Amino acid sequence: MSHHKSQTILVRCPDDRYSPGEMLHAGLKEILNCEDCLVRYEPNGFGGAMEFCHPETQTAWLWRFKIAGTLEPKIQRLIVINHTPGCGAVCAEFGPFASDDDEKNKHLELLSQAAEFIGKHAPEIQFIGYLQTPEGVKKIIG
Ligand SMILES: [Zn+2]
Repeated sequence: MSHHKSQTILVRCPDDRYSPGEMLHAGLKEILNCEDCLVRYEPNGFGGAMEFCHPETQTAWLWRFKIAGTLEPKIQRLIVINHTPGCGAVCAEFGPFASDDDEKNKHLELLSQAAEFIGKHAPEIQFIGYLQTPEGVKKIIG
């Protein structure tokens, strides 16, 4: 019955804690259960939403969306997952952070920027943004 599910691109960090049994893996499963989606393309993206906030990778993503729109069935949805604290990619780019709250705020900012970018340049793609923390998963956008 996969044709009832949303055809989806999923982007999250290449963090070891996404391995089976680790904390982020459980959160990822929870998100996928909530969204009832069929993930058809799952490239890792450094810092999740951070991928959609840099000109170098933005160009690559627009090309991917163009191809995604030609597939049958079309890919119509993008789920972006950020995680905090201790995201190596976001810390490498913006850290060190004075506090976990500061790091969390940067992730929220990146998710907003990513949503804005998609809305402007690939409006045919529905954007959904999540933040994973030790407290659990939280939908931020979508
Ligand atoms: Zn990360």
